[in-house]
Amino acid sequence: MSNRRACGRRSALAVRGSGVPGSCVLAAGLALWLAGCVALRPAHEALPSRHTLVRGQLVIYSDFALPAHHRLVEELAALRGDLLAMLAMPGSDEPIHVYLFDTPERFRTFLQKWYTGLPERRAFFLRSDTRLVVLAHWGERVAEDLRHEVTHGYLHSVVPQLPLWLDEGLAEYAEVPRGRGGLHEPHLQLLLAEAAAGRWRPSLERLEQLASMSEMTQLDYAESWAWVHLMLHGDPGRRALLQSHLADLRRQGTAVPLSLELRRWFPSSDEALMQYLSQLAAPK
Ligand SMILES: [Zn+2]
Repeated sequence: MSNRRACGRRSALAVRGSGVPGSCVLAAGLALWLAGCVALRPAHEALPSRHTLVRGQLVIYSDFALPAHHRLVEELAALRGDLLAMLAMPGSDEPIHVYLFDTPERFRTFLQKWYTGLPERRAFFLRSDTRLVVLAHWGERVAEDLRHEVTHGYLHSVVPQLPLWLDEGLAEYAEVPRGRGGLHEPHLQLLLAEAAAGRWRPSLERLEQLASMSEMTQLDYAESWAWVHLMLHGDPGRRALLQSHLADLRRQGTAVPLSLELRRWFPSSDEALMQYLSQLAAPK
């Protein structure tokens, strides 16, 4: 799960990727395709389409038959309820179109043929003004990738203007298999090791300045996860602040930075995060 994710965003089209680190770019053709451009119809035809499985907001397209009650599909459907309850958000019925290629080779061939500007990744989340799309392929890590990218879909269907760090922090939290309380062990170990070596201290203000996925390092993903975990599982007041922040973003499209709210109500949150991470790593 570690050392594998980075991507990019622009105002009209957000792109998220899973797979390997590096910078992500916007493919103009992709934006047009998402907008329904007829000229790019061949790309559409090259997408998996033989089977369609609808489960809640998810519309999953594949060229292989996916059992209607496959446990991965069940988990992805259940993830929606988990997120909405945890974040106190209303649901959306906007479809999230998941194109699931049967092999990594087919996935790569598709991207290389139609979207040469995109970097190599195992999966992408793409958002235009009119469509939410996940591109992924079946394989060893498909569950982790889909939990991450579909989380972006669920979140963006309700709160389109999420701060980058929070968007990724929540997706990193949710990519952990259900029932593990979002505990991302590789991120936890990375943060503790970097802190012990004197190379990292928490700073939510710094994370909030990150505007592009290409600026985000693996450590930034880990710290984003850590702040989300602290707010969801630490003092209940922090969870309430997070929920209220999301509600403001949803209603107004903007909100006071969470770091300011945290500083106001929990002045020593940086120290609290360090202590919290140590507690998480302590033998139970
Ligand atoms: Zn992501």
